[in-house]
Amino acid sequence: MLNIPHLINSQRAYFTTGKTKPIQLRLQALKQLYKSVKKHEEKIHEALFSDFKKPLYESMSSETGIVVRELQLTIKQLEFWARPKKVKGSLLNFPARDYIYYEPYGTTLIIAPWNYPYQLALTPLIGAIAAGNTVVLKPSELTPATSHILDTIIQEVFPSDHVAVVQGAIPETTELLAQRWDYIFFTGSVLVGKIVAKAAAKHLTPTTLELGGKNPCVIDDSVNVSLVAKRIVWGKFLNAGQTCIAPDYILIESSIKTSFLEALKKEIKSAYSTDVKTSPDFARIINEKNFDRLAKMLEGVSIVMGGQTDRDALFIAPTVIDNPSLDSFVMEDEIFGPILPVIPYQTKADIERIISRYEKPLSGYIFSRKRSFSNWFLTRFSFGGGAVNDTVIQFVNEALPFGGVGHSGIGGYHGKHTFLTFSHAKAIVKKGNWLDIPIRYAPYKGKNNILRFLLRWL
Ligand code: NAD
Repeated sequence: MLNIPHLINSQRAYFTTGKTKPIQLRLQALKQLYKSVKKHEEKIHEALFSDFKKPLYESMSSETGIVVRELQLTIKQLEFWARPKKVKGSLLNFPARDYIYYEPYGTTLIIAPWNYPYQLALTPLIGAIAAGNTVVLKPSELTPATSHILDTIIQEVFPSDHVAVVQGAIPETTELLAQRWDYIFFTGSVLVGKIVAKAAAKHLTPTTLELGGKNPCVIDDSVNVSLVAKRIVWGKFLNAGQTCIAPDYILIESSIKTSFLEALKKEIKSAYSTDVKTSPDFARIINEKNFDRLAKMLEGVSIVMGGQTDRDALFIAPTVIDNPSLDSFVMEDEIFGPILPVIPYQTKADIERIISRYEKPLSGYIFSRKRSFSNWFLTRFSFGGGAVNDTVIQFVNEALPFGGVGHSGIGGYHGKHTFLTFSHAKAIVKKGNWLDIPIRYAPYKGKNNILRFLLRWL
């Protein structure tokens, strides 16, 4: 078995040599990574299909495509991002020039989940390397084919004292978390996020926690229901609903519930045909444990569409549930599967009462033509990020930090934000020597009024 403490010591020693720091070496590593991911692209798609029948189109758009874009952007921008940034100085320090220097944390750990097993492992890794760190990557044990190809790519590009993959499940992750790290980046459930936070606290290790939540999607009566249904069906049933930012449940103005349910049925049929099981565009549930959890959500509720399940094939059809009780199992926790509860509301107070039952979610969506209503939603509720009149699309813009708030996570990443996440922003004042104003030095006698003046006016 791999000696984890030994691996970390060798990465720490490598970091101490300074070899991860020169920008040209970082760029060289990222370019090598780019070559390798392009070379293995087909195998990555095959691995994703073998792990949970992820459709090729979804693998291209939400896995390999994202990684390639992230690499291209980082390679293009890294020199600019990493340059010390001059900031406005304080007159109180005159004469001086002020800067932010970006320095790598050191030896970092990235723990990835199974639902986007390729992209959620490599996107943070790109930023960690760009920022000059070493990385131990722990991919998910639930997607063995993808985790294997990740290992192949990493071994092809990096010496293990720079970047290494540690395969394994809870015992290996527990051992990893028992070590001292300079940064931990975790994507996964709230439950495990708490375990990671606790382990990190022992060494005061900074963390990014990318977690989940129960994402509301509110629809008022001003919308075009067909368009709304189309955008919701896409965002909800992508990856068979196993998307952390998928709408979890719908809150719809009660007068348009019936027409919306009809539009949903029509859209689901048009996307996946009447026999979803044979559709090449619909993924499977990751394992029996999650299948059983999801199947339990279908008990004792009113199913208006879908509901077909096949445990052997890990298949659950896109399912719409009409107005489940808030105390039902489906409304207890994050669904994380192809089940969509639709709950009618009459007043804003109804919306407030329902959304406030849950912890702050990772995303929130509002469909409305009334700007005042969407603005009310955006400012009334706290959530990681979201969209007005669409779902999930906030993910694709690297200029937007992607992350949660409260129980849905701490920190954000994508594009430059990933580089910043893995960098310590070191504040530096470069003081001039040609002038030395004596006011700050003791003895202070007779200087109080001058200080008052300066504090007030500078
Ligand atoms: P998970 O928390 O079960 O597992 C994530 C990682 O933690 C895996 O690598 C796993 O091996 C490890 N792990 C599991 N149990 C552990 C334990 N007891 N101790 C230490 N390590 C442990 O999550 P998952 O099932 O892989 O992913 C689904 C969850 O992730 C959902 O809640 C979803 O919302 C969330 N998620 C969040 C994001 C995001 O970007 N915020 C993205 C994808 C998934």
